[in-house]
Amino acid sequence: MRRINFTNTQVASSETARDINRGVVLNLIRRRQPISRADLARVSGLQRSTVSLIAEQLIREKWVVYGPVGRLPRGRRPTYLRLNEQRAIIVADLRPLQTTVALADVNGRFLSQEVMPTSSDPHKTAAELAARVQRIVDSNPQLEFEGIGISIPGRFDDATQRVIFAPNLHWPEFDLKGELESATGMRVELENAANACVLAEVWFGHVEHIRDLAVVTVSEGLGTGVFINGQLARGLRGMAGEFGHVPLDPAGPECTCGGRGCWEVFASNRAALRYYHESGGAPADGPTFEDLMSLAESGDQLAVRALDKMAHAIGRGMHMMVAGIAPQEIVLVGDFTRLWSRFGPIIEAEVAAGVLVGKPPRVRPAEGKLARLRGTVALVLQNHFGPVRAEVSDSERKMAIAQ
Ligand SMILES: [Zn+2]
Repeated sequence: MRRINFTNTQVASSETARDINRGVVLNLIRRRQPISRADLARVSGLQRSTVSLIAEQLIREKWVVYGPVGRLPRGRRPTYLRLNEQRAIIVADLRPLQTTVALADVNGRFLSQEVMPTSSDPHKTAAELAARVQRIVDSNPQLEFEGIGISIPGRFDDATQRVIFAPNLHWPEFDLKGELESATGMRVELENAANACVLAEVWFGHVEHIRDLAVVTVSEGLGTGVFINGQLARGLRGMAGEFGHVPLDPAGPECTCGGRGCWEVFASNRAALRYYHESGGAPADGPTFEDLMSLAESGDQLAVRALDKMAHAIGRGMHMMVAGIAPQEIVLVGDFTRLWSRFGPIIEAEVAAGVLVGKPPRVRPAEGKLARLRGTVALVLQNHFGPVRAEVSDSERKMAIAQ
């Protein structure tokens, strides 16, 4: 399936213009469903006849179905259109210890979820994942499957089609995409976990007017995704956004990447556990991060101090992002956001202290706990809907219409 690039409308052939108009209509249905053809024409600026042709095509392709019948005070009842919820995507959130596998519809609603252990042997993980995907497909014969989307705690290199740089997985470079595609016969898309969270915000969130956004995911490690000028920043070999591995203290503790004193070793869940251990709170094989948060909630002062230290480190590292990319919003993802009333003000104060000119960016936790999984739904859908990016501007839309 050809990807539609909404930015190159100046050189668009008439066929590309049709693709652009199709993308405009499909995305309007997605965002405003159920919607009538008349409203589609009005909002898109396209002619009614064009909208009708595209809508018929989308219905034939089973992307769109007739929705509820609208009631108008007078005259005809318009027939509303909505996305076909029988189109499904299988998604997985691969993390160092466990992997969540889920079934979602085109609207990002989850129909089922299951958890499996992640093996340090990538072949084993790929085989187990493929077996679970097959079971999901077999037990849902009514659905039409679009593909598999996977969020990884690492980077996927488009050029070599391999997972590269996954320090917290302890995997070598690995062709996860190839192994899964040959085992399942389905198309597989991989994305870095923080980038997946960016896609979730832009695709499913309410950030239509945001063109510069950063997501920071904090778990075993610390990842960042950067959405800049309305597009996801990828960089060479897909490595853009590795702020977590910028050394803040060359004499600091060793990091899984091989460096020392990276932002990650001061601000991740593991860092908080280390602070707790160092302050005499527990043996090295002591509590999990979840336990540590419960201890803090029950008033354990050493646990509170360890988490405060982690919060300050998260905020201080964000100075790099504020000074480097000037985002309008910074969205945080991670178990720690459950204690936002404690973490939030500390991080906000650190971020505000790092602003060079003007107001600080808005800092907030992500909505819901499923950002990584929802982002991979968008990752698969963008093959049909066009790449995830800020809303198409009016001038770009007019150029497409003029073709
Ligand atoms: Zn590092």
